[in-house]
Amino acid sequence: MKGVVVKSTGSWYLLRDEEGKLHRARLRGKFKLKGMKVSNPLAVGDIVEFDVETTGEDTAVIHKIQDRENYIIRQSTHKSAYSHIIAANLDQALLIVTLVSPRTSFGFIDRFLVTAEAYSIPTVIVYNKTDMYDDEMRDYQRQISHMYEQIGYKTMAVSAKTKEGIDELTKLLHGKTSLLSGHSGVGKSTLINLIVPDLELKTSEISDFSDKGVHTTTFAEMFEVDTDTFIIDTPGIKELGIVDIPAAELGHYFPEMRERMNQCRFNNCTHFNEPGCAVIEAVRKNDISLTRYESYLSMMHGQDNRK
Ligand code: GDP
Ligand code: ZN
Repeated sequence: MKGVVVKSTGSWYLLRDEEGKLHRARLRGKFKLKGMKVSNPLAVGDIVEFDVETTGEDTAVIHKIQDRENYIIRQSTHKSAYSHIIAANLDQALLIVTLVSPRTSFGFIDRFLVTAEAYSIPTVIVYNKTDMYDDEMRDYQRQISHMYEQIGYKTMAVSAKTKEGIDELTKLLHGKTSLLSGHSGVGKSTLINLIVPDLELKTSEISDFSDKGVHTTTFAEMFEVDTDTFIIDTPGIKELGIVDIPAAELGHYFPEMRERMNQCRFNNCTHFNEPGCAVIEAVRKNDISLTRYESYLSMMHGQDNRK
């Protein structure tokens, strides 16, 4: 049988088969990923082949993992330690942000975008809580959104409270597997509740399975919106991790820099203080946003601008 991992605890998995039925499963033998040190061989979103066995507590045994289209990992803070795969086979990521309570910083948004670029996951920036914005803030939000649209990111403005933009958001999700991310407090759970029908039922269905196991931290969960639409939530994950990007490569993950850097005088230009740098020139001319360039510099210098 074929299925998708909807929950992973590290020692066992919850699978959803092609008919939507849930199975508790284990991995047969050991799976290793080439060239990667990861703590979990399987993650939410992985597509697997499994057999259902009728004996014992666990009803299914996974014997094959399909090659991943993409995946995101959380890198360990210690270089030598293992990384954790958060999710696999994503069609897109939705970064939920707000201008108020709590305001999401540009630094955080840009770090997320760089990560998503590095993993080739298209990202949509979703401004939530628009009901709390006054006219001036609305205007500001449109300016920011315009700036991100110009460099190729789709943006949206929604309110989980007034339901503004929720239809559009639902349309955007349709037929895809989407990762929902964002700082805690931005309204992620409220939005998921609006979008996923019977969420409470599905959550309790999933936890019915979970309760049988030893308590383990869950890193991500997949919810079914409809038969071909899924949302992946990552409770407790503040930020996605990227494998260290050398300074010389960082610019590749800023689309507006990527398209200009072949005009820099030096082909190993870091766009910091080199003469003849096309990126710095574009920042001077306001063709590249200063906030984006500041995010680039602070990431290059390893500053913590996460908050
Ligand atoms: P999460 O941590 O991202 O899952 O955030 P929650 O969904 O728990 O929401 C945090 C708080 O923001 C709650 O008090 C929500 O009721 C509130 N909230 C969420 N969305 C909106 C919104 O669109 N407008 C307003 N005014 N409040 C919202
Ligand atoms: Zn340059």
